[in-house]
Amino acid sequence: MSATIIDGKAVAAAVRERVRGAIAEEGLTPGLATILVGDDPASAVYVRMKREDCAQVGIGSFHHAPGGDVSSDDLAALIAQLNTDDRVDGILLQLPLPDHLDDAEMTALIDPAKDVDGLTPVNAGLLMHGREALVACTPSGVMELLGHAGVELSGANAVVVGRSQLVGKPLAALLLAANATVTHCHSRTRDLGAECRRADVIVAAAGQLNLITADMVSPGAVVIDVGTNRTDAGLRGDVDFDAVREVAGAITSVPGGVGPMTRAMLLQNTLSAARRARA
Ligand code: NAD
Repeated sequence: MSATIIDGKAVAAAVRERVRGAIAEEGLTPGLATILVGDDPASAVYVRMKREDCAQVGIGSFHHAPGGDVSSDDLAALIAQLNTDDRVDGILLQLPLPDHLDDAEMTALIDPAKDVDGLTPVNAGLLMHGREALVACTPSGVMELLGHAGVELSGANAVVVGRSQLVGKPLAALLLAANATVTHCHSRTRDLGAECRRADVIVAAAGQLNLITADMVSPGAVVIDVGTNRTDAGLRGDVDFDAVREVAGAITSVPGGVGPMTRAMLLQNTLSAARRARA
């Protein structure tokens, strides 16, 4: 029997509606500052979509587009100014930055209380310590999807493929906090198939087209595909979707799975930051 498709678009719409309702009910006026450095077309599209999402739910957005040749001092000054601006609850620094700027160094300048991408060392550390943190949007979106699909994580064997700061590491921490037994795989893992075959839940975040094949998935497992790979046929994930869906119990698609959740969780994080700033 074919797997249940976990519909990321529908879950994301529910998250957006939850955020919109809370903002209206609590009379909040959250604000998100977006910083787009340079003229990378893909980054410009992402930032535009995020601002449109904000407008839909009642989050004000403050856009800043310093030129591609902005100095690190000037960018640091802009971030410092936004850190002290009371209208701004969240700061989104669109990555990657141009080569002359250091992504990690610039991100670390964001006030952790406004770090709605959850990428500062402070928020990463709080997450590792099991304390309240702003968590990166993609991993928290994956957790929201698993919750929505009713996946029992306590005691489950979960395999995370990929160990980036953005996705793999925070996701492993979240799954561990949910009492899963987590196996963390990466490019040096000796036998990825053997690790995956033991899993009740597989989350693929490697950026490798069709890395997860049907023979790596045990019958009934839940498979979440974070990967995005551009192909001639359009955007595809890390999972060989057509074959794996015949084995898995539940699966996400690319597009239409994790991507919409990443956008929705940015709104949720901005709401959380706004609530905390006013508490
Ligand atoms: P990254 O390149 O920083 O990390 C990739 C990770 O995958 C590394 O830790 C590496 O060890 C691991 N890896 C690479 N090849 C592997 C292999 N053959 N076997 C096992 N592990 C392997 O990437 P990232 O930023 O974590 O993103 C991962 C993927 O998720 C990318 O395709 C990215 O586009 C996508 N992504 C999607 C969303 C979304 O919203 N849908 C958000 C963020 C990232």
